[in-house]
Amino acid sequence: MPFKIISSQCTGCSACEMECPNAAISEKNGTFAIDAKKCTECIGHFDEPQCVAACPVDNTCVIDTSLARYKASA
Ligand code: SF4
Ligand code: SF4
Repeated sequence: MPFKIISSQCTGCSACEMECPNAAISEKNGTFAIDAKKCTECIGHFDEPQCVAACPVDNTCVIDTSLARYKASA
């Protein structure tokens, strides 16, 4: 579940959309967003997240640390 797109940095180029093996990325209001329920971090498909690899803007597809599984566990 854990990648998200920083919408203020997204240029709407759509490069990430077709690379996602789970069709988790779609356009919303001119920028793209990741459906956290569909994102698997590309585990089992690729060695690295394909949205990160495809995105021309650094640090735009990033881990969503607000999700519970990424919170520090003691
Ligand atoms: S990390 Fe992989 S599964 Fe998740 S949104 Fe990016 S391309 Fe899709
Ligand atoms: S590849 Fe990056 S800039 Fe292009 S649509 Fe996806 S998140 Fe936005």
